[in-house]
Amino acid sequence: MWCVNRPAFSAEDTFAACISRIQDKDLKRRLAGVAGHIKAEAAVYADRAKEAELHLIAQTVGVAGSVTTDEMVSVYDQRMAGKKGPGRHVYDAIKLLPKQGICPFCDHRPVSTLDHLLPKRLFPALAVTPDNLVGACADCNKTKLAFAPAAAEEVFLHPYFDDIEAERWLAAKVVEGPVAAVIFRTRAIPSWPHTLNERVRRQFRTLGLAQLYGAQAAREISGQAQLLGDIHACRGANGVREELTRQAKTREAVRTNSWQAVTYRTLSESEWFCDGGFRGA
Ligand SMILES: [Zn+2]
Repeated sequence: MWCVNRPAFSAEDTFAACISRIQDKDLKRRLAGVAGHIKAEAAVYADRAKEAELHLIAQTVGVAGSVTTDEMVSVYDQRMAGKKGPGRHVYDAIKLLPKQGICPFCDHRPVSTLDHLLPKRLFPALAVTPDNLVGACADCNKTKLAFAPAAAEEVFLHPYFDDIEAERWLAAKVVEGPVAAVIFRTRAIPSWPHTLNERVRRQFRTLGLAQLYGAQAAREISGQAQLLGDIHACRGANGVREELTRQAKTREAVRTNSWQAVTYRTLSESEWFCDGGFRGA
């Protein structure tokens, strides 16, 4: 759901590098024979991704009738993701693209692998296409593993093509209780088409981000309790509110929709929290 710069590698160059050292003459001939098809499918993919229409790309068995799905998956597994694969430099470069090495799907855990936006087993022609590969954390990768969108609402936000950072779509509310908690949700943006709001809502739910952010916010609140108590003792609820607002602004300057920015903004707007609600933490 967060943007990443698009990779500078083309599908045809990446595929050519991956198959460059294949010894089996028959396999190499068949793979080289589908190079044009892979280039064409990559162009279709980019056009569809720009229009948020990846659900319109048809699943296939094998590539162009001459390369099997297993063979194509093996090109990715061994020759691109494999440590000594001739396409490994592209794999490594794509993995480094997300800012600060943080997964663009959850914006929290470190990147540890590449995720196929459209799964390689269902779309083998896109197995090594750079636009279809995004650095991700293991959890997000596992959660969406073999997921293929069947409708426009199910298309995952593409970190290279979809930018929703201009709006505050991540929202939260404070739960007042013995221990303060923050519950996260997505906010529908009136100026967005229904489909985009639905995609954001579904992706947030599929990846379990409310649970992830809620747990992180609870830890953050606990870590701030002592400081907020000291501020409250000399400057009261207004002092606490100013401190939380300052922290919210600092985090919003980095990322509007980070769980940190939203946590501080939400807490700063809670009279109950500012006037001592932080104490139970
Ligand atoms: Zn993640």
